[in-house]
Amino acid sequence: MLSKDQIARYSRQLILPEVGVKGQEKLLRASVLVIGAGGLGSPSALYLAAAGVGTIGILDREAVTLSNLHRQLLHGTGDVGRPKSLSARSRLNALNPEVSVIALQASLDASNARELLQPYDLVLDGADNFPSRYLANDACVLMGKPLVHGGVVHFDAQVMTVRPRVSACFRCVFPEPPAPGAIPGCEEAGVLGAVAGVVGSLMAHEALKVLLGIGEPLVNRLLVFEGRAGRFREVPVRRNPSCAVCGDAPTIRELREEGAVCATTTPHPALQTPEHAMAKSSTTARQR
Ligand SMILES: [Zn+2]
Repeated sequence: MLSKDQIARYSRQLILPEVGVKGQEKLLRASVLVIGAGGLGSPSALYLAAAGVGTIGILDREAVTLSNLHRQLLHGTGDVGRPKSLSARSRLNALNPEVSVIALQASLDASNARELLQPYDLVLDGADNFPSRYLANDACVLMGKPLVHGGVVHFDAQVMTVRPRVSACFRCVFPEPPAPGAIPGCEEAGVLGAVAGVVGSLMAHEALKVLLGIGEPLVNRLLVFEGRAGRFREVPVRRNPSCAVCGDAPTIRELREEGAVCATTTPHPALQTPEHAMAKSSTTARQR
């Protein structure tokens, strides 16, 4: 049963027939792990908390810097120097004290990924580096957890939802990470904060659809936002039978880190996404 305050707080989504009291109760019971409290994780986590997702894990080992603030809206000027996971928890608790926010001051690695992901119903990947991104994908596939992927650089961004072993995973679309060092972070490549806001919001929207079991999540569809033109385009993708983690004869059965992998396999030729397009010109992007 929802309390009087809950009915008031969530009233504008409760009146949506697709949500209703049952949907709201689903959200209150749901748990989402947000990897990275940065440009993507900030809007995502804010919308998830506002919507009443009951438990939100915030995984980030970094501290807030002044240069984060133009896009990482979880943090304020007074948070500079503070661990992002703690700053995020304060902000999310202020927004919605009903939400249980778990601050995880760590980075994802092969040794902790299973333990970190295990308690959550869904994983939202706003990581700022490729090893974490591939590890999150592989862990979600191996553990059967839905994953919402997002990436952003410059004015361009992408989002996709993965239903493990049902739809294309991140590795089906991008079999291997770019060569280490080929891709600078947002610090070098630059990003417009509002573009991260567009995609971070879409990521939260995807997560809510999956948790509620409504609408059509972006499965087998990579949604690309071209910010300069103000245009979205959709790239159909599909499961790759030779995918190393979800294919017919997977070679990844245990988690491993991708730090030393070279970009020997190119992504689907129809794709010209922010990261790989930039990787080709050696001037790109980590996502945040
Ligand atoms: Zn795959």
